[in-house]
Amino acid sequence: MIDPWASSSVDYDKLVTKFGIKKFSDIVGKIQNPLNLMKRGVIFGHRDFDKMIPLINDHKKFSVVSGMMPSGKMHIGHKMVVDQLKWYFDKGGNLSLPIADMESYAARGIDFKEAKEIAITEYLSNYIALGLDLTDENVLVYLQSEHTPVKDLAFELSKKTNFNELKSIYGFTPSTNVSHLYVPLVQVADILLPQIDLYGGPKHVVVPVGVDQDPHIKLTRDIASKSKDKFKFIQPASTYHRFLTGLTGGKMSSSKPKTAIFLTDPPEVAEKKVKTAKTGGRESLEEQKKLGGCPDKCAVYEMLVYHLIDSDEDLKKIYDDCKTGTLLCGECKAIAAEKMKKIFENLSEKREESLEIAKTIL
Ligand code: SF4
Repeated sequence: MIDPWASSSVDYDKLVTKFGIKKFSDIVGKIQNPLNLMKRGVIFGHRDFDKMIPLINDHKKFSVVSGMMPSGKMHIGHKMVVDQLKWYFDKGGNLSLPIADMESYAARGIDFKEAKEIAITEYLSNYIALGLDLTDENVLVYLQSEHTPVKDLAFELSKKTNFNELKSIYGFTPSTNVSHLYVPLVQVADILLPQIDLYGGPKHVVVPVGVDQDPHIKLTRDIASKSKDKFKFIQPASTYHRFLTGLTGGKMSSSKPKTAIFLTDPPEVAEKKVKTAKTGGRESLEEQKKLGGCPDKCAVYEMLVYHLIDSDEDLKKIYDDCKTGTLLCGECKAIAAEKMKKIFENLSEKREESLEIAKTIL
């Protein structure tokens, strides 16, 4: 079972074979100017994304849904979602960005007022600082708790599922809080919202998520097909990205500060944190020169792949130089740290202005 409220290390290949997620590498060649995240296998799986490709390539009408749960600080791993949203937006997609304050209330006990504050100061302002224009007319941002159409839709769609289905997807027990039963339905409504008449009726929608969110996708697709009589929904497509490894090894997580580079960290702190990350280097310099490093097990290399190096050629050179022991971790970390610092200098320059814009969104 994949649990959307837990985070554990994930065997991505197993997910592709066992849970019916399709390999992204099989279709990436059909996409015009794919993102680095797509080409490099960071986005590793999908459901029905092949149906989106002609629309994306031809700049036809489609929507993208990407929720944010305001429960903590954004870290560098979250940047990958914003990069995807920017790419879809440039390809002509409409963006629908629900703020899951009902989920953060149910799962973390955060009240709506606090969630709104976190959404503005952390999420929206960082999204803007990272280059997403949230004021564009093709971008919808809303709080679940304040958006009547989504709550009405959640209620209506709740007729199309039952306790046993939710239990089989989420593993609920008799002591599960009822809010945990309701919240998935609001998320289903978030994903299907762009297809209601108010937002232009049925259309193709893609949801870029971490694989821990797949239970919501499966439920949504099931409910979409069961609601055809009234809504004529098209089953939403989804893509799945890998998690960014944290500084200490496991998944980067806001709730474990030692693992994360937060987007609000000062540039020098971000730079320093890169230098503390766990690498795939050997025990000693001699050993590394002789045997080479292990970039496939290196958090620094991952940062280069996900965020820091645009050119595939430059990235390959680092990979090869690491493997042959020509490049050592100190030098490699210095390259990564410098690039990370630049991203953070840019973010901190934009922070004040972005916050002012963010305040006007909700
Ligand atoms: Fe990682 Fe770079 Fe060291 Fe290789 S040289 S293990 S890529 S830090």
